[in-house]
Amino acid sequence: MNNFEFKNPTKIIFGKDSISKLSNEIPKDAKILMLYGGGSIKKNGIYDQVKTALANHDVIEFAGIPANPEYAVLMEALKVIKDENISYLLAVGGGSVIDGTKFLSAAALFEGNNPWDILVKNIKTDKGMPFGTVLTLPATGSEMNSGAVITRKETKEKLTMGGPGLFPEFSILDPQVITSIPQRQLANGLTDAFTHVLEQYMTYPINARLQDRFAESILQTLIEVAPKVLKDPTNYKAASDFMWSCTMALNGLIQKGVPGDWAVHAIGHELTALFGIDHARTLAVIAPSHYKFNFEAKKEKLAQYAERVWNITEGNTDAKAHAAIEKTEAFFHQLGIDTKLSDYTKDYEGTAETISKRFTERQWLGLGEHKSLSPDMVEEIVKMAY
Ligand code: NAP
Ligand code: FE
Repeated sequence: MNNFEFKNPTKIIFGKDSISKLSNEIPKDAKILMLYGGGSIKKNGIYDQVKTALANHDVIEFAGIPANPEYAVLMEALKVIKDENISYLLAVGGGSVIDGTKFLSAAALFEGNNPWDILVKNIKTDKGMPFGTVLTLPATGSEMNSGAVITRKETKEKLTMGGPGLFPEFSILDPQVITSIPQRQLANGLTDAFTHVLEQYMTYPINARLQDRFAESILQTLIEVAPKVLKDPTNYKAASDFMWSCTMALNGLIQKGVPGDWAVHAIGHELTALFGIDHARTLAVIAPSHYKFNFEAKKEKLAQYAERVWNITEGNTDAKAHAAIEKTEAFFHQLGIDTKLSDYTKDYEGTAETISKRFTERQWLGLGEHKSLSPDMVEEIVKMAY
């Protein structure tokens, strides 16, 4: 294993009816801004559960954080934080609301003039305004990590940010929340979490046995529970495994001591920024092409994944590795997720060149675990995904 340091300060409160424990987690004298999205929490009862739990706290609300949290909307929330002297943020939602809240946590204490600098200049946040989350959609792992992805429609950009000051203080994970999630978002959640594991696992072998097995066990669990979750979101056992797998997929643990790739996410973010395609679906579009393009560099790990996760025992390393890519794509299809860019837009011509140009401008000249994927190579990968 490579050397590493690991600290994850987020307290997880997991289980049935755990939203009722909310009031213990936030200081009584806090002035809270509760942030949420388009209103699904008002239909499924989560809003009422949160308000009941916080009946003795001082809470004001900010609704309307859209999927792919939009900078302009967040700037309105920032004004509320300043005008109302807010001291604590509470995200009630999926990755978009939580990521938006992380941006606000950073921006609320940011000393520069322009909060967009946090994203374009990649300024790490060592201390943010304290916040907690009530997770309503298992997918991103944002509830237990310190990263966020923010979108700016005006410039068609989607950029990442983070820092040790941006872990939630607590996150409440009640698997019952998945009962109201539409099939499309359940499939997205499964795909996003699955790809998070692949980004931290599908590199080259360094014989980190435990890390490999953590990753493989999360992949196996997601494969096993996927059909159950989609068929019956009221299946509490499956919902629990699903929710905890998503959190464990990206809370920092499985990435320690091993190389990481993350090229699929970097390229995928561009497809969301350009076409508005759901985050998870962009990953399903890019991942198969990425693994085919980088086949030689990744084939040993692909073959290990074939054997241990997909039980493919026939054939040599190359054959197993190819079969693993096919299995992965078939898994996405089984979830109802299309894996070609042309399935999502007719306007795909020129996309590869646009992304390659953007990466060159941003000086993203070497992506992937070897930092060797040049913008020209990224262009090839995107073309393969048309
Ligand atoms: P999301 O964008 O937060 O939510 C998608 C949709 O699901 C929204 O319309 C939302 O409605 C709805 N929804 C959420 N919970 C629901 C429930 N319990 N019942 C019914 N509908 C529900 O989806 P997400 O996949 O969790 O987040 C995607 C974002 O996270 C992307 O911007 C992606 O780039 C980012 N991301 C972040 C990380 C990270 O580590 N920080 C990692 C991967 C991806 P409402 O609007 O009403 O809430
Ligand atoms: Fe993701």
